[in-house]
Amino acid sequence: MHIISVENLEKGFDGLGVLKGISFTLQKGEVLSIIGPSGSGKSTMLRCINQLETIDGGSISVCGDTMVTTNSQHMVQYAGKDTLKNVRLHCGMVFQNFNLFPHMNVLKNITEAQVFVLKKSKQEAEETARNLLKKMGLEEKALAYPCQLSGGQQQRVSIARALALKPEVLCFDEPTSALDPELTGEILNVIKSLAQEKMTMIVVTHEMAFARDISDRVIFMDDGQIVEEGKPLDLFNNPQNPRTKKFLNHFA
Ligand code: ADP
Ligand code: MG
Repeated sequence: MHIISVENLEKGFDGLGVLKGISFTLQKGEVLSIIGPSGSGKSTMLRCINQLETIDGGSISVCGDTMVTTNSQHMVQYAGKDTLKNVRLHCGMVFQNFNLFPHMNVLKNITEAQVFVLKKSKQEAEETARNLLKKMGLEEKALAYPCQLSGGQQQRVSIARALALKPEVLCFDEPTSALDPELTGEILNVIKSLAQEKMTMIVVTHEMAFARDISDRVIFMDDGQIVEEGKPLDLFNNPQNPRTKKFLNHFA
């Protein structure tokens, strides 16, 4: 089953095309890495799927629900608010800069949406939060505030917060780019273990070795388009498009 299906996605800012007809699908349990130079539209693409940006054309479906389509007159039509809410719950997002609520402790960061969006009891939400914190190796940080944590710990809290809503797919936007190199590994290990549990994921990353190791499929984006797509070993070891080759050469 397709967890995500994106067709001919278009998005521009101030008349400037940023996504120029992006199409791809994501199967249940699949890990898709997205690589590409800065400014190629990777974040915008994730933000469109997560309803943080509206689209200018194309269609997006999540778990069988049509979130947005475009008709033959090029009119973009979003689904009703119940469907949009459903879709939002199906997609979790982890940001480069963690985006934790600074005025809430770790526990509250993880329980807030469970209580207010999923309508769980406080007790149930806290149990879920504590289990996830344990899984992230952060049991003892439940009452700490984000500013008292390292970047790596904050990012693990933000992963726990996303997982608490039991999403069908988790999207990571350069989850290690704001971290010191010695903290990058701890986040990559968390994502790796989620991949082993068959969590469906889209990972935008500059960590090429990591993308090669954990992905089922890799997409290379440049200038708002998917230039090349393939299995990690094929794409990294034997890129076909000259733009892919040139990009990967920077990491060689
Ligand atoms: P990437 O994540 O691949 O680095 P982005 O999706 O962040 O690329 O950006 C793609 C292009 O869209 C860039 O040229 C960027 O400046 C532009 N862009 C992104 N967000 C906005 C915005 N909110 N307003 C105007 N331009 C934007
Ligand atoms: Mg980005």
